Amino acid sequence: MPTTIVVFYRDLRIADHRPLANAAARGRVVPLYVAEDPARAWAHGAASRWWLREALLDLQQRLAALGAPLLLRRGNRIDTILMLARETGAKTVVWHRRYEPDLAKEDAELVEALKEAGIAAEISDGYLLFEPDTIRTGAGTPFRVFTPFSRACLSAPTPTPPIAAPKKLESVSGPASDPLEALKLVPSRAVWPEKLASAWSVGEVSARKTLDHFLKQGLDDYAEARDRPDLAGTSRLSPYLHYGEISPRQVWHAVLAHKAAGAGAQNSLHRFQLEVLWREFSWHLLHQFPLLPEKPLNPSFTNFPWLEDDEAALLAWQKGQTGYPIVDAGMRQLWQTGWMHNRVRMIVASFLIKHLLISWQKGEAWFWDTLVDADLGANAASWQWVAGCGADAAPYFRIFNPILQGQKFDPDGAYVRRYVPELSRLDDKFLHQPWTAPASDLAKAGIVLGKNYPKPIVEHGFARKRALRALALSKGEK
Ligand code: FAD
Repeated sequence: MPTTIVVFYRDLRIADHRPLANAAARGRVVPLYVAEDPARAWAHGAASRWWLREALLDLQQRLAALGAPLLLRRGNRIDTILMLARETGAKTVVWHRRYEPDLAKEDAELVEALKEAGIAAEISDGYLLFEPDTIRTGAGTPFRVFTPFSRACLSAPTPTPPIAAPKKLESVSGPASDPLEALKLVPSRAVWPEKLASAWSVGEVSARKTLDHFLKQGLDDYAEARDRPDLAGTSRLSPYLHYGEISPRQVWHAVLAHKAAGAGAQNSLHRFQLEVLWREFSWHLLHQFPLLPEKPLNPSFTNFPWLEDDEAALLAWQKGQTGYPIVDAGMRQLWQTGWMHNRVRMIVASFLIKHLLISWQKGEAWFWDTLVDADLGANAASWQWVAGCGADAAPYFRIFNPILQGQKFDPDGAYVRRYVPELSRLDDKFLHQPWTAPASDLAKAGIVLGKNYPKPIVEHGFARKRALRALALSKGEK
């Protein structure tokens, strides 16, 4: 009976897992997870490590129940896989394609090393719906604008339907696993794991439940509710998609089935499909521009005059102490739950970049460390989008007014009251700009500005002018 090593990465599930299904159909299966080199650029941030640990625990249990326990190993990925192949007599190694530029290179090296050792390599698609090289403009070049990209995806052949999980796996006896604790995934920040654990239920079953709940309760109103952080209007699937506890094909086909059943408002279904395609667009961009996480796509932003040494402002932003309630609520939601609503991500990112003139790379790095869905493609592309230097980006000169954004998207203040409880008793009228409240209202609400809630770190009108001036300077204008 042939033995196949199945290498897991961001596909921590057993359903719709082609490498696993193919290996199971062929014979004995050795499931393997090789720990990431913590020194690599863009190694997992702290919140991601917490999520990863929980997802690996879940996968260990599911694979063990099927009969083939997951092996965890540390060390150089290529050497580890070759060594395990020798230990088990495996003649084939299978895995899902990876798209991070350095990891794609490592996988190409692995293919070579396996070939030299006389071992077959089989790579399946699965992290994305559409392979980057298959979605092209009429001229055969990659897209840099989202709308035609999404049209090309929607008119491309439908991604293949997901496949079922194997019912049983044949394993080999012998190879030992490193203990999960040896992977050192628990964040050192003492209270964080508890906070994240109370916000999320990690694992494949939870991913499926999250999708099913969204299909029943959220999808029909998605077009209207998706921009409201005070409502549960989005799917919250991002970390599950990031770690592959659910595949984009499973999500896509569930939505198509919903559509075929005539359920739900078509504009909401379409809107949701477009958001899933933003994930694709981001990864296709990263594939095309390997330096996307570090360098502005638009080179005219290379010498932008950021206020790089304003550590106090950066800290106030990170801790949700800017004095702008919608910004502070977002940053505290991030700190408490490892996730932030998309609309608020745009607001806080814009605030950092334009109101504080701090470079998008610093915001990107903070998100990388604190988001449970921190994703190299989506995070880099989104920060560049807000900064105005990315593909199809929001123009830099469009500067969000955090007061109006708060009033529009959190009209009753429920979101701000939840994450900034010190403002909870303030009248709706002043909630998004507490510094405009009369002293008597502030006193009644128990607020002393500058004491138990900060005064605005920067005045909006001044910040707007300063940001536009910086843009002009970056273009060489006087
Ligand atoms: P839904 O609205 O339910 O969307 C469904 C899925 O589509 C999401 O789970 C996600 O996979 C994808 N998606 C939705 N919007 C986007 C988008 N704008 N770009 C790319 N994919 C999208 N998303 C990440 O997954 N990881 C990140 O690190 C990340 N960083 C971001 C940083 C900034 C500054 C901004 C503005 C956005 C970022 N996003 C990131 C995109 C977006 O905010 C999240 O994907 C979304 O909030 C996740 O919530 P949801 O699953 O409820 O989304």
